[in-house]
Amino acid sequence: KLHNTILELKGNIRVFCRVRPLLADDSAAEAKVISYPTSTEFFGRGIDLMQSGQKHSFTFDKVFMPDAPQQEVFVEISQLVQSALDGYKVCIFAYGQTGSGKTHTMMGRPGNPEQKGLIPRSLEQIFETRQSLKSQGWKYEMQVSMLEIYNETIRDLLSTNRSCSDVSRTENGVAGKQYAIKHDGNGNTHVSDLTVVDVRSTREVSFLLDQAAQSRSVGKTQMNEQSSRSHFVFTLRISGVNESTEQQVQGVLNLIDLAGSERLSKSGSTGDRLKETQAINKSLSSLSDVIFALAKKEDHVPFRNSKLTYLLQPCLGGDSKTLMFVNISPDPSSLGESLCSLRFAARVN
Ligand code: ADP
Ligand code: MG
Repeated sequence: KLHNTILELKGNIRVFCRVRPLLADDSAAEAKVISYPTSTEFFGRGIDLMQSGQKHSFTFDKVFMPDAPQQEVFVEISQLVQSALDGYKVCIFAYGQTGSGKTHTMMGRPGNPEQKGLIPRSLEQIFETRQSLKSQGWKYEMQVSMLEIYNETIRDLLSTNRSCSDVSRTENGVAGKQYAIKHDGNGNTHVSDLTVVDVRSTREVSFLLDQAAQSRSVGKTQMNEQSSRSHFVFTLRISGVNESTEQQVQGVLNLIDLAGSERLSKSGSTGDRLKETQAINKSLSSLSDVIFALAKKEDHVPFRNSKLTYLLQPCLGGDSKTLMFVNISPDPSSLGESLCSLRFAARVN
């Protein structure tokens, strides 16, 4: 591999925890339930939660405290992003309950340069690096696709005839579109009917991100806040060729804003809501099973148990690189969910 961006990975899987700041409408803001160990052994990696007088301690590859700015978080992933230009397949996930800061971490606040999230920052870095590698003979082509997985069904967020497909969209996706996932022997994934767009600049991708956001918010009003109940998958495919050495690289960068991990009570939900809950539980637990099996180097990795893991199969196994953000809220009323999220992440860590 090129450009010397090898990371020291534990089995190519890392887990970062990020705690968002308290917000104005969080409950009982004065009660402190989270603390960070200061001993040299755990500094910057440990997090403690207090629940009914009992302390629960966790350690991750990194813990970002509430005041960590977006730039500080990006610095920690920039090498990983860079490795996609070297031909690696990379997945970065944001996991956590709704309201814990997943979208803030991934997208941030558009229009505010300091609050930009990992997706816009990654793209800026990739296009800048592409420019600087030109002098060494590298030529890169990039393609973007964006999709949503809702109730185990893929929805294309860049489909151009959206206005007409909205009318025919059903619970099971857009009428007539299959979105069948196929992997070829070279680790390339093809999703039938999915829009794939050639991109040459950050500006072009920003335009597509806006389009995808609009497409998601249409679904939101029609379908019960779909955006927090669905997985958002941003994929950048990179193919590079060096005109003097004839070296070739094929990298992929997947940035995934997962559906909210909150446990919705099964007894209380019925019909569509129940189906939604079951689909989310199934795909999040499949993701955990897959990452766990990969980390343990087990022979059988159950990729096929959910759409998400099957879609990302070539980008999760082999010498690909995975980073999971577990986002948590410091709000005392979220303590139960925060503990669940940390336990989920500790299992994959
Ligand atoms: P999620 O996508 O997990 O549902 P959001 O990213 O939408 O959560 O975050 C919930 C709210 O908290 C938003 O208003 C967001 O702007 C704010 N927020 C989240 N993380 C941070 C952060 N690190 N700094 C400042 N505000 C944040
Ligand atoms: Mg969100």
